[in-house]
Amino acid sequence: MSLKPESESDRGKNKASSKSFEAMRKFSEKYAKNTGTFFCSDPSVTNAVIEGLAKHKEELGSPLCPCRYYEDKEAEVKDTYWNCPCVPMRERKECHCMLFLTPDNPFAGTKQELEIVDIVYDA
Ligand code: SF4
Repeated sequence: MSLKPESESDRGKNKASSKSFEAMRKFSEKYAKNTGTFFCSDPSVTNAVIEGLAKHKEELGSPLCPCRYYEDKEAEVKDTYWNCPCVPMRERKECHCMLFLTPDNPFAGTKQELEIVDIVYDA
């Protein structure tokens, strides 16, 4: 019998819920395909960024870019500039998180689907 909870602790402490992670995974895969960009050749980078986006979506209601420091996260969400996909990505395909990489980027892999790594479930 599975007792796996559906709460935010179902993937371990300090992680987003499976539901939020899945939502951001699906978004990221679709967006990469739509923009002709690729995930990083190191899948732990992609996993970490998607995790950060999922946590912000849960905490703030929007997937605020997880790779920046903010004085006031709520104000940044309202400003929308750094809500993923951010303006630099939408306008110039610039993703400083290395989630969406153009094929000429030396860190670009060949995948637009996530290889899940480094997911630790609490016992
Ligand atoms: S840099 Fe922009 S596109 Fe890349 S993860 Fe952050 S918000 Fe998303």
